[in-house]
Amino acid sequence: MGTVPPYAGYIFDLDGTVYLGKQLIPGADETIATLRGRGARVMFVSNKPIDTRANYAAKLSSLGIPTGVDDVLTSPLALADYIREHHDAPACIVVGEEPVLEELRNAGCRIVTTAAEADIAVISWDRQTTYDKLEEVFQAIRAGARFYVTNPDVTCPVESGELSDAGAVVAYMEAASRRRPDHIAGKPYPALAQAAMARMGTQPPGTILIGDRLQTDLKCGKAAGCATATVLTGVSSREDVLALPEADKPDYILESVAELV
Ligand SMILES: [Mg+2]
Repeated sequence: MGTVPPYAGYIFDLDGTVYLGKQLIPGADETIATLRGRGARVMFVSNKPIDTRANYAAKLSSLGIPTGVDDVLTSPLALADYIREHHDAPACIVVGEEPVLEELRNAGCRIVTTAAEADIAVISWDRQTTYDKLEEVFQAIRAGARFYVTNPDVTCPVESGELSDAGAVVAYMEAASRRRPDHIAGKPYPALAQAAMARMGTQPPGTILIGDRLQTDLKCGKAAGCATATVLTGVSSREDVLALPEADKPDYILESVAELV
């Protein structure tokens, strides 16, 4: 677990990896500047479906990491990329907020509100949803619409504790429809890393995913065939990583992202 060799592409988790809440992880700015200076491609990824890529780009830029919207990949964009590749202007019925709708519209989707019209049911996190809306989306799934999910997280950690997230809505739809999702874009599934690589133009062996969570970041990177690094600045400790079965361990354990260069 020594020095990390250079990679063509770097996929960074955000909270716990590049920053912690509102604080930059010390050295993250210089590390990313160095990687970019070497000509490496860098992508920042998040499962969270209620913030826009523009928000993340603005936050990173304000913390000293100049970032454009196309340097950020969220689970709604990864799902939109998947839909763009597999469907032609489909009709989507959606449990999700504006950032999800925006990515879907950009991918050529038509947003519809009745089950009868829907080719695809997109399940995400929607803090304004209603029973009527959930019921219409359930009827779409029941009638055979594709069942797609932005992110499988059942909760989202916040300062005061946690909020129920998209995964909780997925559980509701699974219970009612007795169907499982046809596709899930977010970590720990590989689609998020695959979408990041497609956008960076890099391949799995030349790409490394860096994150703090073993059950999401690490699994996603491994499932996509990327090299993996676990940083100890977030939720996981060295003991947690060392307790993993050998095959599930990351390629590198780093005190922080600053050890990448
Ligand atoms: Mg994290």
